[in-house]
Amino acid sequence: MQVFTSIIVLVIFFLAYIISDIRDYKYRKIKSMTGLSHVIGANSISTLLFQDNESAAEILSELKDVAPEIVRADIFDDSGKVFASYIRSGGGGVNISGQISKAETHFSDSLLFVIDDIMNNDELIGKVSLQVELSELMAIKKSKFDLGVVLLLAAICISFLIGFLVQPYISKRLLNLVNTIKSARKTENYYIPITDNGKDEISTLITAFNQLMQQVIENQQKKDEFIGIASHELKTPLTSIKGYLDLLNVMEDREPNRQCVEKALESARKLEKLIRDLLDVSKIQSGQLQLNIKEFDIDELIAETVSSIQMVSLTHELIKEKNNYGPQLITGDKQKIEQVLVNLLSNAVKYSPADNPVIISTQKTDLDFIVRIRDFGIGIPEDEINEIFERFYRTKDSSVHIAGLGLGLYICRDILQRHHGRIWVEREDVGSSFYFSLPLKDEQATKKIMQSEQTGINI
Ligand code: ADP
Repeated sequence: MQVFTSIIVLVIFFLAYIISDIRDYKYRKIKSMTGLSHVIGANSISTLLFQDNESAAEILSELKDVAPEIVRADIFDDSGKVFASYIRSGGGGVNISGQISKAETHFSDSLLFVIDDIMNNDELIGKVSLQVELSELMAIKKSKFDLGVVLLLAAICISFLIGFLVQPYISKRLLNLVNTIKSARKTENYYIPITDNGKDEISTLITAFNQLMQQVIENQQKKDEFIGIASHELKTPLTSIKGYLDLLNVMEDREPNRQCVEKALESARKLEKLIRDLLDVSKIQSGQLQLNIKEFDIDELIAETVSSIQMVSLTHELIKEKNNYGPQLITGDKQKIEQVLVNLLSNAVKYSPADNPVIISTQKTDLDFIVRIRDFGIGIPEDEINEIFERFYRTKDSSVHIAGLGLGLYICRDILQRHHGRIWVEREDVGSSFYFSLPLKDEQATKKIMQSEQTGINI
């Protein structure tokens, strides 16, 4: 492309140069010939007045030495008849008597015609005409054209030479990139960063490729990590269920031990939650998480959820602070909001190993209903506070000792966003406070949720 662009630019510049050069030549020629015709005219005044053809012819014959490029010169009298003529040896030119009307200059293919008035005291007494051969112009044109062709060929050769020398450098790097991509695809080994010290588009491409590979590696690591955690998390409750059921099996004759059944049930519930979380995440990813929108009392839902979590979390006291307002109507999916509450309450219990209480309080603003779940547990490190809502994210402190997949908060955030609500967390001196807000029932909020459900848009 660069070679062709350079050639086109070169051709345009060269043509412009030749045209301006030719125009320049023509201008100079006209000027010098007009000057000469003035001189001949001035010298011919007396010959015309005295009808002295011979002297006039003599004046014209001097042109042979003065301007050898003049092929024919004529002096016409005031009636337009030829008074005296000069024709260069070898001929040339044309007889233009009867065709001249006014003083002018013009070009034919091979001649310049200069016609000038001969004046005597403001009276027109005749005309002089010069016919100038333009062979010099032809020669200039030819030499310029030859020069242009030579320069053009030289430019093409140099451009191709440069291209030829630079191309291996470029194609070597591109081929290296292509080969690395092929080998990564074949071997599934993405740990092959390409080193390139260039500063051009190819090195930008290579940097982007390296970044992409890095991302692929990180995603693969995340996936491997997740598969490890998920299989461990799914296996633990399953082993436990199997153990308790084996125990019940052994006690065949006796009354089934209630504690064993409860433990088996607890493990089954954990397993169910894990699988539901995984399913929810895949539904969120494919945009298929549906909401069942209805009107419900959020305060009542909180009270019910707190007491059901309390029943299975005997080690921690869940304290629901009283509010001084009545039922609070919310438009949304009751089950999904319950899922948010269960997740936040279970986390508050799970991440408070010292059996500390969990306090649930609510607050109302003009537009929103805000729920706060305050725990006195392990808390969240400052630098990880923005990450915990990301898919599969688990804080470094918690991931080793406490079971979990890092999906709950991600699902909560998605559910709340679909309700035009928000979720956030604040660090406390001891533990942390999780908040979520929901718009109070109003026409607009209902419409918005309905609309986003219909269009399937993720808000
Ligand atoms: P999971 O609990 O299954 O790991 P979540 O998405 O519910 O997944 O939580 C993500 C991470 O946020 C947890 O792994 C934990 O590190 C942190 N976290 C959540 N809730 C709390 C809490 N109440 N106190 C301290 N850390 C928490």
